[in-house]
Amino acid sequence: MTTLGPERIYLDHNATTPLKPAVRDAMIQAMDLVGNPSSVHAFGRRARRAVEDARAAVAALVGVKPAQVLFTGSGTEANNMALRGFPGRRVLTSAIEHESVLAAVTDADRLPVTPSGALALDALAEALERVEPNRALLSLMVANNETGVLQPVAEAAALARARGALVHADAVQAAGRLPLSLPALGVDLLTLSAHKLGGPAGVGAMILAEGLEPDALVRGGGQEKRKRAGTENLLGIVGFGAAARLARAELPAAATLAPLRDRLEREALAAAPLARVMGADAPRVPNTSCLVLPGLSGETQVMALDLAGVAVSAGSACSSGKVKPSHVLAAMGADAASASSAIRVSLGWTSDDAAVDRFLAAWSALARRSVAA
Ligand code: PLP
Repeated sequence: MTTLGPERIYLDHNATTPLKPAVRDAMIQAMDLVGNPSSVHAFGRRARRAVEDARAAVAALVGVKPAQVLFTGSGTEANNMALRGFPGRRVLTSAIEHESVLAAVTDADRLPVTPSGALALDALAEALERVEPNRALLSLMVANNETGVLQPVAEAAALARARGALVHADAVQAAGRLPLSLPALGVDLLTLSAHKLGGPAGVGAMILAEGLEPDALVRGGGQEKRKRAGTENLLGIVGFGAAARLARAELPAAATLAPLRDRLEREALAAAPLARVMGADAPRVPNTSCLVLPGLSGETQVMALDLAGVAVSAGSACSSGKVKPSHVLAAMGADAASASSAIRVSLGWTSDDAAVDRFLAAWSALARRSVAA
């Protein structure tokens, strides 16, 4: 859970969160469910009830009705569904989106961000003017996965909807870290992923405004109102439901990560005065810190920290394990050297003062050695 062996510290919650114990318990119980949720017999009905309980929990997390939740195989799939589900609409997005948005539609307009890492709203307004009314689809993340910087989703959505655009928000890194509501954000579609909030990987959700009908990406059976074919991932969905229920109850605890993260940054900068925190002057999710240590590549930092028993990540290597200069930091105006010398430290439900102390001891020693070298 918290450790891999007695000594290891996990500070990579934005890559994936450790499964919460109550989620594991719910999933273990669900392993004994036999039926296919589409079957009409008692076994099937019991499985269906488990799916619908989970749907209600996910709906409650984002302030919608259960019927507005479609389960998918990942956050990536939900992002693809949102962006590809409305052919004929021109996609506008930001330059700092997750790869699952950037790769879903390759001819999208990628709008710039400010040096603090938030979408430039004036650029959005201009881009909207260039698209015929009622023909745009804006996709904007709620919180960036590398910097944690919160995007002006409600403001952007108001601008976009005034031009008849549909609005999608990728809330994968925000859910469970701050209160989230589809109606309050004023968006039409919202993406969630279970494994970023204490649930299992391999299950996500597309949240839809009432009456909205994106094209199905996966076709076949009639599951998920014909919007996502394939026998439901019962275990994953049950885990997602349990994680969503807990995430909602534990939002106050998630907020307490901010002072922990702020201490980490204060002490890191005191130990390495040349270092800086990307997006520090912008509102951020409480758990994320993107630290640039000039002169030492992110990859080297990650490996040295790993040797010291502390797990963080570099660049945007959230799934591939490959490290490339961060497109997010480049879009914020960081030069190539800085964009390559960043690490992301992301806290979560397993993080405490002792974990932060371990990180600080290892990273400060590394920073001192790199200055001496
Ligand atoms: N969107 C953001 C902002 C993410 O950080 C991630 C995963 O890192 C995803 C989408 C993709 O989610 P999944 O891993 O469930 O495909």
